[in-house]
Amino acid sequence: VDSYDVVVVGSGPCGATYARTILEWVPAARVLLVESGPVVSRPPGRHVRTIADPKERLAAQLASQGPHSQPADWDALLAQVSAPPRGLAAAYAARPGTWLLGADAVQPGEDGMVVAALSSNVGGMGAHWSGACPPPGPGERITDLPAAELDQALAAARSLLRVTQTAFASAPLGAQVRSILAGHYDEAREPARRVQPMPLALEIGRNGERYWTGPHAILEPLLDGRAPGFELRPETTARQILTSGERATGLVLHDRRADRLYQVGARAVVVAADPLRSPQLLWASGIRPEALGHYLNDQPQVCGTVRLPKRLAPAGGGRHQVRDGSVDNLSGVSWVPYDRVRFPFHGQIMQMDASPVPVDSSFETWPGSIVELSMFAVKEIRYEDCLTFDESTADYFGLPSIKIHYNLTSSDRALISDLVAEVERMTEFLGESVTGAPEVYPTGSSIHYQGTVRLGPADDGLSVCSPHSRVWGTRNVYVGGNGVIPTPTACNPTLTSVALSVLGARELVRGLT
Ligand SMILES: Cc1cc2nc3c(=O)[nH]c(=O)nc-3n(C[C@H](O)[C@H](O)[C@H](O)COP(=O)(O)OP(=O)(O)OC[C@H]3O[C@@H](n4cnc5c(N)ncnc54)[C@H](O)[C@@H]3O)c2cc1C
Repeated sequence: VDSYDVVVVGSGPCGATYARTILEWVPAARVLLVESGPVVSRPPGRHVRTIADPKERLAAQLASQGPHSQPADWDALLAQVSAPPRGLAAAYAARPGTWLLGADAVQPGEDGMVVAALSSNVGGMGAHWSGACPPPGPGERITDLPAAELDQALAAARSLLRVTQTAFASAPLGAQVRSILAGHYDEAREPARRVQPMPLALEIGRNGERYWTGPHAILEPLLDGRAPGFELRPETTARQILTSGERATGLVLHDRRADRLYQVGARAVVVAADPLRSPQLLWASGIRPEALGHYLNDQPQVCGTVRLPKRLAPAGGGRHQVRDGSVDNLSGVSWVPYDRVRFPFHGQIMQMDASPVPVDSSFETWPGSIVELSMFAVKEIRYEDCLTFDESTADYFGLPSIKIHYNLTSSDRALISDLVAEVERMTEFLGESVTGAPEVYPTGSSIHYQGTVRLGPADDGLSVCSPHSRVWGTRNVYVGGNGVIPTPTACNPTLTSVALSVLGARELVRGLT
């Protein structure tokens, strides 16, 4: 049996962060990173939207879609590349590079998490994401860690993800939109929590090309033999963690290409397999802290699309930033931070040159004139919102199938109504709606699932792992991903999850040396 110091399960931003941090601290360590899905981009883990050729990009997105990676109608999908569905229609469909757990997971009579989504590829969702990396604010922040330690880890995460607020510094009408929003939302806010450009994991090349960062940027120093002890093994599913008492001793892996099960030894195991599948693997391995799979939450999402007033159009119309055939039609992103008391929402405000929905030919747009309001709220966190696993039916990857038990509470519904009213208000002071009334997206739309392997201060049944992500009842099993976040949040969670992975990795290496 081949043996490793650490086996990391899942190659998204969090698994990549564990591998990178462990090897930074212990360069001689043998680290195996296993990933159920295939390599879909080069170098491995690179963001799929950096693939210029639409056909190649579509192939990479499809290859990430697990059971839906072999579409029946390639041509119909290719036709959609230049005009992808938007708004509510898109919210009910799987986003490119993701697949939906589907109706089988939803329990009859419950709200369910109807569009619970997953990605299965090297880089995970981090090869498909939008890269918004706002830091959590008061109320969202984890308080089970010393504030200075969390801040330092968030800074490390920003550096790993190459987060910047200047990617769209010259975006047309960006400053004007922020100034209008600031007039309505900045009063009594601390400077760090005022309206500002969205921190983004994004680099703009000299030719204006966009490069979303993520798993590849994190893994870069380990690839191509630069870290001799590192191995990335795609198309390999972890089926079970082997244990002896409180220690993990190895894993059962499934080579998906050869359809072969085999074992590897491990001195420590990291499970960073997303908030739905990390608890699945722990459960399948008999590692079942009482809170495992519970406290599941997803941020309710409400969206609207606005056209700015004509008086903001530059003389001559300005030069359109978004060229035909562009990978997306984004020309700038701003942020209205969460404020527990006055604005219990998170605003991701995206500007575009063109309307995302079909409109008649007389509909005039100019650079930055279309503003998409993508707004998130916190969900009430409850034990009964949970995942269960059914050993009698295996899923596509051979693990117990996942069932979701999930309901919105009356206070969730009240907050969603408030958010609808807020989007109406925002629409009014920015311009005119393009899409009519704000759209309440189906549960699961945010793709920010949290809580299922949550951290907590003590092994008291209310959490799955310690503040440094070690699973309770084990000495050497760590978890990573949004599932670790225990707090109600409205902001995009990946920056926080990567920060927690840095802290988990640092504690893990102390046990190795
Ligand atoms: C379209 C889109 C836009 C997004 N935009 C943002 C955004 O702007 N900001 C933000 O913060 N977040 C965003 N997200 C979410 C973000 O991508 C995730 O938070 C992030 O990728 C989570 O990282 P992770 O490493 O925990 O998990 P993932 O990236 O989900 O990776 C987990 C990996 O584990 C693998 N895996 C699962 N089970 C096993 C197993 N048993 N064995 C081996 N491998 C396994 C999976 O195949 C997967 O590749 C977006 C997501 C999508 C899809």
